[in-house]
Amino acid sequence: MIVGIDGPSGTGKSSTSKAVAVKLGLRYLDTGAQYRAITWWMLDNGIDVNDASAVAAASGKPTIVSGTDPAAPAITVDGTDVAAPIRGKEVTAAVSAVSAVPEVRARITELQRTIAREAAGGIVVEGRDIGTTVLPDADVKIFLTASEEARAARRSGELKGKDAQSLEATREALVKRDAADSGRKTSPLAKAGDAVEVDTTELTLDQVIECVVTLIEE
Ligand code: C5P
Repeated sequence: MIVGIDGPSGTGKSSTSKAVAVKLGLRYLDTGAQYRAITWWMLDNGIDVNDASAVAAASGKPTIVSGTDPAAPAITVDGTDVAAPIRGKEVTAAVSAVSAVPEVRARITELQRTIAREAAGGIVVEGRDIGTTVLPDADVKIFLTASEEARAARRSGELKGKDAQSLEATREALVKRDAADSGRKTSPLAKAGDAVEVDTTELTLDQVIECVVTLIEE
């Protein structure tokens, strides 16, 4: 059982995907965390993330390992636990540029396919291009959406400490990132033709989880 869950930021993809995987006894892969991890490595190594050839040349260097336990998602780069720093403002601002580089996508896509293939008992894979590009043969494809207001409010509520920012700043950053993700040439954020779209604007997290579980069990 392979489930692909795509959609823009702030639609509840991660919370939904993890909860659905726990409920159904499936593994879980957060593909955004992998793009964030490679971006963290680029920044940590002083690579200019706006220089696509420098990013392409370095893209094969870091070793990224993703855990697939939905109850304890984990990610390391060259053995360093990066689960916390990949959520920071710096990485969030740079990730769209890094993930637009075709060499980066080819490498990360390969990793994702291997993890999905090897996941015993099935897996929920969340991202932006799972249904269209990474796993076009997935058994169930879901595309989550929500209004810009709802997405900004949810994202703003998640940002704490030094990354806290106003609702307006969160909304601007989110719109900019989604525009970059939707506008890139290689496997942009897009709904697969055979994906089921779920608008989460008026739904609670529990309702979204219930809806996705029903779609999988149908
Ligand atoms: O899901 P999350 O917000 O953590 O994703 C971070 C970024 O990683 C996205 O904004 C996008 O640039 C990139 N991404 C991608 N393809 C995926 C998953 C994430 O390009 N399948």
